[in-house]
Amino acid sequence: MVLALGVFVSLSYSKDEKPTHYSAVIDNSQSPFVKLRCIPMQDTKLTEGFWAKRFNLAASKMLPALEKAMLGDCTANLNRIQRAAGLIDEHQHGSPWGDGDNYKWIEAMAHVYNLNKNPHLDKKMDEWIEIIGKAQDPDGYISTNIGHDKSKRFQRVNAHEMYNMGHLLTAACIHYRVTGKDSFLDIAKQNADFLYKQWKAEPVKMARFPWNPSAFMGMAEMYRTTREPKYLELLQIMIDNRGSRPNPDRNHAYGGTDQTQDRVPLRQETLAVGHAVTGNYFYCGAADLYAENGDKEILLALERIWKDIHEKKTDITLGVAMDRHSESLSPRGDEVHENFANEPYLQPNLYSETCANIGTGMFNYRMFMLTGDAKYADWTERMLYNTLHSGVDLQGERWFYCNPVSWDGTEGDKIKQTNGKNPNRLVSGHRSGLRWEFMNCYCCPPSVTRTTANIHNWFYNISDDGDLWINFYGGNRLSTTLADGTKMALTQTTDYPWEGRVKVSIDEVNNHKPISLHFRIPSWTENPIVTVNSNKTDIHPVPGSYMEIYRYWSPGDEIILDLPMPIRLMEANPKVGKLRNKVAVMRGPVVYCLELPRQESGEAIINKGVFLPENIQLTPEYRPAFLGGVTVLKGQALTHEGKKAYIRNNNAIDSQSADAWIEGELYRAIRQNSRSALIQGNVEVELIPYYAWANRGLAYMDVWIPLAR
Ligand SMILES: [Zn+2]
Repeated sequence: MVLALGVFVSLSYSKDEKPTHYSAVIDNSQSPFVKLRCIPMQDTKLTEGFWAKRFNLAASKMLPALEKAMLGDCTANLNRIQRAAGLIDEHQHGSPWGDGDNYKWIEAMAHVYNLNKNPHLDKKMDEWIEIIGKAQDPDGYISTNIGHDKSKRFQRVNAHEMYNMGHLLTAACIHYRVTGKDSFLDIAKQNADFLYKQWKAEPVKMARFPWNPSAFMGMAEMYRTTREPKYLELLQIMIDNRGSRPNPDRNHAYGGTDQTQDRVPLRQETLAVGHAVTGNYFYCGAADLYAENGDKEILLALERIWKDIHEKKTDITLGVAMDRHSESLSPRGDEVHENFANEPYLQPNLYSETCANIGTGMFNYRMFMLTGDAKYADWTERMLYNTLHSGVDLQGERWFYCNPVSWDGTEGDKIKQTNGKNPNRLVSGHRSGLRWEFMNCYCCPPSVTRTTANIHNWFYNISDDGDLWINFYGGNRLSTTLADGTKMALTQTTDYPWEGRVKVSIDEVNNHKPISLHFRIPSWTENPIVTVNSNKTDIHPVPGSYMEIYRYWSPGDEIILDLPMPIRLMEANPKVGKLRNKVAVMRGPVVYCLELPRQESGEAIINKGVFLPENIQLTPEYRPAFLGGVTVLKGQALTHEGKKAYIRNNNAIDSQSADAWIEGELYRAIRQNSRSALIQGNVEVELIPYYAWANRGLAYMDVWIPLAR
């Protein structure tokens, strides 16, 4: 397939020829304490298949949809920056965190520009950067919800000033790395210098102010871009300060509580608590700090928190945030919302904010680079094929804030927009059964767009011993320089995630020496096979690890991975009470769901009951014209009546498997026993990828389907 939008320019530079701004999306190229390093953003080009299509959608549809919303009366109101710049007079509404979401939009443009070199994007970024420069105060501060009155700065912890400025820092670094222009970076330097002075002057006050600490990741990248030591010093101060001023007031609005992970200092923390977006951004920033300073206590804390999330609190889709509508208390008694579950095994089923889920993927990918442990890459992949795409419709123009794994066919929340240009227009609330263009909290759409537009940067890593690590699969071409100076180019060809066959062709290698290529063997595969130049190897790939192939490589060499994708019925640890006797269906990295659109008699089918017999035979079928091209799973399920007959005929028991669970295991595939064929009460079902739900009008949807066994 040839992409319709833009031409991917294949750039290849030797190590010495590369312009200085060329660097990675997470630039840990000089970080002393990482096992794996990102490669420059310019080195991976998408070519065809799933990821090229998603990138194309981000470039052609998502970016314009964001711009339209942000120039309209969306709460990430771009006009507020114009007003702060003195270009317009009109009062503009917007959320406190709107600036941050505007900067994420610019970052997304930079990622798209990195691949398609569309001059209109370059010009648009230049125009907005100029306006941002005019909106910035002379001392470097900028947060348009506060304005230019210095007395109003840092008065309310939930004013999101650090969220806004943090996303500015990140977006400016990415813009510089992509374009080589220092216009945005200069603004960011002034801002980072301001923050340094502010924190040095009032460290006690500032301890509570990074309500949503995107500034931690932003400051790490500012240090990496400029090598300015004070930016790393400030990152260390910000991480150390968090939790240093616990608040006697338990109200989350005042800071110093579990809501923003600042009741307990990080090094003493054992739990994932509080707001799941702020938490993940904090953990990412702390991982970035560990990459620079090697403070083992930080890594140990992050490993404890990671286990708490992935062994007790995530849904199978990597959805992690609980409902904001049920204001609740953390284990230490603080008010929290949009939070990691307050108790283990209370899966978030109905909420799971898109930003929080993507943030968990960002945390996983950083942990992978710190440790080289394949389990983190496996969980990163869970986000890539599920909750990232569920946040946007298949046209790339309508969005979800919440990513429930069950839906009752209703419209869900509806609220009346009371501010902005169209006060009577109804827009959706957080929990919705219909995707929306506008919402009163617009953080998720730019998160989906910037992540979709740059995720190919996570496909490969290099290590200091000259090895190349291949993490994720999708049609692309890589041309990079390994740590020992070897120039290497290769092409991946695959129909992943619909098929598990991946062909890697070596296009160029300029060094006559053996090189190790490490291929990720996902934990979900069984009996994978690898061939090199059509010859079987004596390597036995182990699911859930990386397979190393060490040999001399030449142009024309071809490695083929065959990763079988058995359809798995996944059950939850019985401690997750609400998921007992239910299964989720996975094939490869993709989580499936049963969606029954109301317009297709969904209610009638629901009323008759849908149960999966444990010996169900599901058949994969790729349908190119359905839901943007997906593999569906078809099979015969049971109605209420059929379930009774099935259990009676097979002397089966209608209960959870009694097999012992491995310590820390949250989800596992069930063993399918042989049972007699179904004779009555059948209903034909067609499961679709979870991410593609809510594209056929209002619907009943379940990831977790009742099981008959
Ligand atoms: Zn969000």
